[in-house]
Amino acid sequence: MSKFVFITGGVVSSLGKGLTSASIGLLLRSRGWNVEMLKMDPYLNVDPGTMNPFQHGEVYVTEDGAETDLDLGHYERFVGKYMHQKNNITSGAIYMSVIQKERHGDFDGATVQVVPHITNAIKESWLRLEKPEIDVIMIELGGTVGDIEGAPFLEAMRQFQLERPREDVAFIHMTLIPYLRASGEVKTKPTQHSVQKLREIGIQPDLLICRTTQNISEEHRRKIAMFCNVRPENVIEEQDVEFSIYQVPVMLMEERTDEILLKRLGLEVPPIDLTQWNDMLEKVRQPRERVKIAVVGKYISLTDSYKSIYEALTHAGIANHAAIDLLRVEAEEIEEQGAANVLRDVQGILVPGGFGNRGVEGKIAAIQYARENQIPFLGICLGLQCAVVEFARHVCGLQDVGSMEWMEPGKEDISKAVVALMDSQQNVVERGGTMRLGAYACWLHEGTKAREAYGVEMIRERHRHRYEVNPQFVERLRRGGLVISGNNPDSELVEIVELPDHPWFVATQAHPEFRSQPVLAHPLFREFVAAALRTSR
Ligand code: GLN
Repeated sequence: MSKFVFITGGVVSSLGKGLTSASIGLLLRSRGWNVEMLKMDPYLNVDPGTMNPFQHGEVYVTEDGAETDLDLGHYERFVGKYMHQKNNITSGAIYMSVIQKERHGDFDGATVQVVPHITNAIKESWLRLEKPEIDVIMIELGGTVGDIEGAPFLEAMRQFQLERPREDVAFIHMTLIPYLRASGEVKTKPTQHSVQKLREIGIQPDLLICRTTQNISEEHRRKIAMFCNVRPENVIEEQDVEFSIYQVPVMLMEERTDEILLKRLGLEVPPIDLTQWNDMLEKVRQPRERVKIAVVGKYISLTDSYKSIYEALTHAGIANHAAIDLLRVEAEEIEEQGAANVLRDVQGILVPGGFGNRGVEGKIAAIQYARENQIPFLGICLGLQCAVVEFARHVCGLQDVGSMEWMEPGKEDISKAVVALMDSQQNVVERGGTMRLGAYACWLHEGTKAREAYGVEMIRERHRHRYEVNPQFVERLRRGGLVISGNNPDSELVEIVELPDHPWFVATQAHPEFRSQPVLAHPLFREFVAAALRTSR
């Protein structure tokens, strides 16, 4: 039977619960335990796929094509293991499944209620992760204790602890210990209140992880412990990191978090091996060079919107012993000021994925600038589509072409769509189309930069898009000099394009950022940053 660890948060949101859960997952895994992760999001959307990135940050896509919370990205990057649909649930998905059963008559005339029907469905989502080979299941609840939407999840946790032996279920509560500069003291009251709230529900946390900017003194630890009914050694301090989020696991280990947790669960504490992780951190701590990379997007004001892109760039920096100076550019700014003005002193330009037509002309201008000025460029998903349109317009002389996505609804002109909607038979269609979601194979062609970067012939990358390079334009683009470096082996759809006479101009229809790891940078990001470094020397 697996052990269950629940992680809740209190006082304020954005405490880095996802990072902390992922870090603990890494520590347990590095001690040889097999860990599974689950993120529970209390909102009513069935998944975050339909949510605006401004509201909820990036939509993280898994191998099996689930559109999930970005915390799954932290889980994959830290725990080093792929997540799937089953690793993320929402209130929306839970309610939908219960209501569907109700309509189907599965409840035998019973009154369907939050307790027990919703809480049972929540517990079932936990049990689906339980397997003989899984030692610990870490379950993180989004939001903070006291949120109306979170209540059924907490109730399910309360019930669950009584259904299992005591040492099989542990609770971690994450809080904030604010520091008041005026009086020069840290305040424990919000933590006390948050734990009180949890205890009212019937949950007693075993470990408290306290986010803080200051050292928490022994005296304060004892005070927190006493008022929150936990052992003083179980009050864990998680200070703001100095230079990298990848320090968090090491900080938590120094506080003996994993050891305390394992003992509480009645599990052994085998020696830990963090060699690879520490080597990686050393490179972050002491970069040999710096390189300025522009990310030209449309959800730039919120860092979470391009979370995995920024992380993948960081990983690529680490792999090259370099630090990345990120210039986050709003595409519309380029439309107003011109690419040369905005991008003058950058060594690399990345255009990430996106939806809709706001800002695309700015992205196209940025790509044209990268192409004409030999500045390393990496295009991702919409970034590839913009690159192909830019090439068709400015190199192939097809001046008024574009993507069907940017044309006025009802007035789409297929003959001008270099990027178009396709049905499942690869026919261009005006409406509908199929969303490519999840991992697809790509065959890389000999002699291309992409093939050289990956070092293998067949790869798999995750997708999340509706539009494709229109096969009817491929020959025209080729004649103009665009190299198709990768195709889908089944449909022949264009997956990767590049330019031969350029330091590094590669664009992919997939989202390689989701597969990048701190200890193993993604090849396309790694080579993009390497090229940017070369041009800056
Ligand atoms: N909007 C484009 C499409 O649906 C690109 C999507 C993306 O960049 N993820 O094809």
